[in-house]
Amino acid sequence: MKILVINCGSSSLKYQLIDMTNEEVLAKGLAERIGIEGSIVKHKPAGKESVSIERPMDDHKKAIEIVLNALVDENHGAIKSMDEINAVGHRVVHGGEKFSDSVIIDEEVLKAIEECSELAPLHNPPNIMGIQACKELMPSTPMVAVFDTAFHQTMPESSYIYPLPYELYEKYGIRRYGFHGTSHKYVSQRAAAILGKDLEDLKIITCHLGNGASLTAVENGKSIDTSMGFTPLEGLAMGTRSGDIDPAIIIYLMEKEDMSISEINTLLNKKSGVLGISGVSSDFRDIEEAAEEGNNRAKLALDKFTARVKKYVGAYAAIMGGVDAVVFTAGLGENSPETREAICEGLDFMGISIDKDKNKVRGKETVISTTDSKVKALLIPTNEELMIARDTKSLI
Ligand code: AMP
Repeated sequence: MKILVINCGSSSLKYQLIDMTNEEVLAKGLAERIGIEGSIVKHKPAGKESVSIERPMDDHKKAIEIVLNALVDENHGAIKSMDEINAVGHRVVHGGEKFSDSVIIDEEVLKAIEECSELAPLHNPPNIMGIQACKELMPSTPMVAVFDTAFHQTMPESSYIYPLPYELYEKYGIRRYGFHGTSHKYVSQRAAAILGKDLEDLKIITCHLGNGASLTAVENGKSIDTSMGFTPLEGLAMGTRSGDIDPAIIIYLMEKEDMSISEINTLLNKKSGVLGISGVSSDFRDIEEAAEEGNNRAKLALDKFTARVKKYVGAYAAIMGGVDAVVFTAGLGENSPETREAICEGLDFMGISIDKDKNKVRGKETVISTTDSKVKALLIPTNEELMIARDTKSLI
């Protein structure tokens, strides 16, 4: 069985074609600048050179058409005909309270996803465009939606409710939803497998540390709390997002600087986080380099990032009444030994002890804690595409 995994952004489209008999990636790629000048598909078939296909792409349908042609191309293709694609798995960011698991897409589901767009106006509409484009181009191929929010639907009410008037939850669905669910689910499952334990018996803190970052408390395989909330703005300090701040700052700034709603939105989502503190970059590599060269604000940004992750680790250990494993994943979590070490530093009292040599590794599944560490620390590269393909396979 071959499954095409599609992840649509507003002007981009990531894809992977996976052979589910051995979970091997047959081809993957990225279409960029959809709807703007200079659109391009970077296509990489397994075992062959990458190719760049520069062609106008007015919309997602055109992009998917080019991707499908690339997949069946005589020279750089991975399959002979489109009929070999048994199903398509779509990443959908927001499933609201309607979806606590992946689903086969039909008209009713599509309508429900559209209704969730109000909660994720930047993310769900391009996801829907991808679904509709595939529906038109491959009308008889089954499709599945896999939601970023679904894994967190197990959170108890006390985790997801905000201390706001309850009527706002009832009227607008203002509550905590959480994101990166597919990643948190994947790495928690892998952690149990690596440790040779039953996921049902484990308390795990999963740290998805990329440009967007979130932590999740996974107890007995279920998300019981996560750091992102109503939107992906809550929680950790991120590349450009503020994470938790005193909400009164918004009111104060609107008055003092005469800022509009849109300016506040840009400030909190695009100009804050480690970029805001350091003034250097949103990319941790640049900030680490600047800090090494003596830039104090870059150092402060890294310290703030680490301190907040640590704070959530402590909080989640407390709400679970202990922790068996801490997992690091995503761009920074997988590639920055310094960040992992800084987060775990001083956590010996909780039974977390990092082996500095083992921790030097990047991007490879590794237990990075010492052999006698009570709590295991692990590096597990995330694989959201595989998780989407697995869910798609199991549903069809
Ligand atoms: P992601 O959003 O998961 O793709 O992660 C992207 C982020 O990971 C980038 O913004 C970088 O800050 C960070 N990152 C990737 N590679 C490294 C590295 N070798 N060292 C430090 N940070 C890295």
